[in-house]
Amino acid sequence: MNFPRRGIAEDDSSAGASLYHGSRWLLESKILSNKRKLVSSRKGALKMKLSRILGVVCAFFFILFSALSSWSATAPTLTIFIDATSAPRKIFHAKLKIPASAGDLTLYYPKWIPGEHAPDGPVIDLAGLKFTASGKTLKWRHDLLDNFTIHVEVPAGETEINADLDFLSPATLEAGFSAGSSATDKMALISWNQVLLYPKGWKADEITYVATLKIPSNWKFGTALPIASATADQPNGETQIRFQPAPLTTLVDSPVITGEFLKVVKLAENPLVEMDIAADSAAALEPPEEVWDHYKSLVEQANRLFGAHHYRDYHFLYSLSDHVAHFGLEHHESDDSRVDERGLIDDMARKSEASLLPHEYVHSWNGKYRRPADLTTPDYQQPMQDDLLWVYEGLTNYLGTVLTARSGLLTPEEAREDLALTAADLDHTPGRAWRDLQDTTDAAAELYFSPRSWESWRRSTDFYDEGTLDWLWADVIIRQQSKGKKTLDDFCHLFHGAPNTGPMVKTYTFDDVVNVLNQIVPYDWRGFWTERLTNHGPGAPLGGIEGSGWKVAYDEFPSEMARVEEGRDRLIDGAYSIGLKLHEDGTITDTIEGMPAAIAGIGPGMKLIAVNGHKFSVEVLREALKAGATSTAPLELLVENTDYYKTYKLDYHGGERYPHLVRDESKPDLLSMIYQAK
Ligand SMILES: [Zn+2]
Repeated sequence: MNFPRRGIAEDDSSAGASLYHGSRWLLESKILSNKRKLVSSRKGALKMKLSRILGVVCAFFFILFSALSSWSATAPTLTIFIDATSAPRKIFHAKLKIPASAGDLTLYYPKWIPGEHAPDGPVIDLAGLKFTASGKTLKWRHDLLDNFTIHVEVPAGETEINADLDFLSPATLEAGFSAGSSATDKMALISWNQVLLYPKGWKADEITYVATLKIPSNWKFGTALPIASATADQPNGETQIRFQPAPLTTLVDSPVITGEFLKVVKLAENPLVEMDIAADSAAALEPPEEVWDHYKSLVEQANRLFGAHHYRDYHFLYSLSDHVAHFGLEHHESDDSRVDERGLIDDMARKSEASLLPHEYVHSWNGKYRRPADLTTPDYQQPMQDDLLWVYEGLTNYLGTVLTARSGLLTPEEAREDLALTAADLDHTPGRAWRDLQDTTDAAAELYFSPRSWESWRRSTDFYDEGTLDWLWADVIIRQQSKGKKTLDDFCHLFHGAPNTGPMVKTYTFDDVVNVLNQIVPYDWRGFWTERLTNHGPGAPLGGIEGSGWKVAYDEFPSEMARVEEGRDRLIDGAYSIGLKLHEDGTITDTIEGMPAAIAGIGPGMKLIAVNGHKFSVEVLREALKAGATSTAPLELLVENTDYYKTYKLDYHGGERYPHLVRDESKPDLLSMIYQAK
């Protein structure tokens, strides 16, 4: 199979790859200059003689160099065998055969994980490393400047070495992305980047892997990686899956979901789109029938939004478990999305994660097919630059929320309530005074791993939620400027759409985004985005909400989506009243600078013990806030801080406050049009 990856082919900046290509280009330019010398020496017999000698010499070197060049241009093919039968013990064994020649063989463990936008490859969990050739154990050592690089001493005469390694998956529940908890007694996620090494000097597109995977007996599996054969006749009833040879890029981009309770639901044909869902129980796989209809509608609506697709087929790999890390990671032809065990069957849980699969699915177009040039690296060691994540993640987040509404995964009212929470949260982020949106992307590799404490002052990966508000604003501007003739859907058609292709990368820059927006409707898009990326507020960018005919307003009644969010995070959101976010056990996760709790002296990490002398509970706090609205007495919070207790007095009388969107009848209701199924 051929995988034209234009973007990657254009961008050759890996240290290993450029070193290799540099020397090859040097040889070829010498050959060309020698040929030129040959032509210019035909004027005299003497010169002719000389030229013959030169010709012979050149021919000799040409043949030599060609041989060297074609030898060095043959990209390696590795075989890899993964034994996942010990997944419930949370250990995975791998055996690789790697072409080699005498001397130093430099191998890499993937460091920068695509979609995670950070150098978070779990190298600390690599164990049991052993290299052999012809039955002899080889010496190896980590590179002193980079723990992801391993040097192996290959003896003379060897053309291939064997590598054995184990991947130690987190043994207790660990949050995070693909390196977080990934295996339970009943299911596992296999991310190939965690169980392999690859040789230096080649792009990930150039190295071929012939992979085989063995899974526990009676477990089923799902993956987008093309399969050669699957046999269930292994000893102990295990299944062995042989995959078609695939480039390293495709392998790393195609995780495998496997488990005892695994359900496959077909969502579309031509091309095939299916959900491969593994759960910790059979019951978790049986949601109301209409859930599947919404996901079928998601596929339909996404394809109408973009007008074309860029996968051969697509697999939603969906994990339902309380014992795996919860996140979503995009791939070109699949996604690795993980939620609670009851994430499909529980109504509240389903609402809380409604936009997860739409978001990851959108990434097949926005992030995988169209990718910022700065994020398009030839291998997994070259650092990625995150400065365009406001498009990669921000636009994806906006389109994800739009498709969530269009597919019926949330009702239009729920989608608006969700948007109100996004706007209110960003409107209570004083950190924008010092850190602009651009800097949240520039610092993303660290911000992804920042704690929730001080989040409102540090800021976090706000380009997701702020991206939603900003791209809504762009959508509204397109609709206003074109008098309703054009929408952001037209931008998506042009930027992400036809023709249908298999997986490939088409890179873009800031200028490309501005240019395509201008092709949809002429406007000062450069000025618009520059302002959005560099302004310091105050307050969230609400131009999109207000331009679409709605306003953010607060009252004492939490919306359904506010309750869903509080339930999911086990948090009490007092951000909009006293500027306090706390866990349901009273632990304060954040205080918002400039608001009553922070002014009184309370900070994150402290613990709320009592409210107005009454032992803290969620209800006690809510009732005290309510009572305070009709009283002049201060709100008294008894707080524990590093083994000391202190009562803080807050002069607050605003009651409980929760955000909503309310209609502004002076403007057309563009938001409802945006949320309408196409
Ligand atoms: Zn994303």
